[in-house]
Amino acid sequence: MTTGKNEFIVLGSSSGLPQADRATAGYVLKAGESLSLIDCGGGVTSSFLKRGLDPLAIKRILVSHSHPDHCCELPLFIQLIYLSGRKEPLDIYLPSEFVEPFRAYMNATYLIAEKLPFEVRLIGCEDGFGFEDDISVTTVANNHLQGYAGLLEKLDLPNKMQCHSLRIEIGDQTIFYSADIGALDDIKNHLDGHSLVVLESTHIDLDQFFEFTQGISVGRYLISHLGRADESELIRVLSEKYGLGNLVIAEDGMTIEL
Ligand SMILES: [Zn+2]
Ligand SMILES: [Zn+2]
Repeated sequence: MTTGKNEFIVLGSSSGLPQADRATAGYVLKAGESLSLIDCGGGVTSSFLKRGLDPLAIKRILVSHSHPDHCCELPLFIQLIYLSGRKEPLDIYLPSEFVEPFRAYMNATYLIAEKLPFEVRLIGCEDGFGFEDDISVTTVANNHLQGYAGLLEKLDLPNKMQCHSLRIEIGDQTIFYSADIGALDDIKNHLDGHSLVVLESTHIDLDQFFEFTQGISVGRYLISHLGRADESELIRVLSEKYGLGNLVIAEDGMTIEL
């Protein structure tokens, strides 16, 4: 699949509870011929190959936070790129708290940077970090991991509870990817006006969300990070009730043309 279109492709649409018929979080943003992988949870590598995507077309990888369902297949995905014959440097954007632990994990899994035939650049992100290239990305910190504060303090762990939503510009369109959030309040001031909002459903109050959509203007909503089948059914019922004809419920392999 190498057409010059801009597309948002769902590789994994499951919540953190792994499922038989969905990979956990992973998406590809395709800008012409260049691919950005967004999150890399369990099942994402095989899902990527199932869509006929080219590992050598990966331009960068963006990771929202270090929960397993968003990053556990990163080493395997790097191995896929390595064994596919990459030579160009690979930029991987991670929460800054995850850079050194992930570098150590790469070494532990024998993906030793000095051995790889391409440079892996681990780039630590804080709130408001951004870059401009074929796409432009800005990170927006949210409260998804704040519930760990007491435990981290008690155990004297260095974690900084970083989870980033992403604001992305591609061509004349903008995308807001919520990643995982603490609650809708974390991001609701960031949703208005986007061409596409990709929203996780696990940590939001659905009634509050649908009520909120009535006052903002968004091109399309893609609801993902889904749990049981009855959750999708509830979202379907509510989107009908609120007349939200521009809402799509994610499935692995779904492609949204931008
Ligand atoms: Zn998650
Ligand atoms: Zn999470």
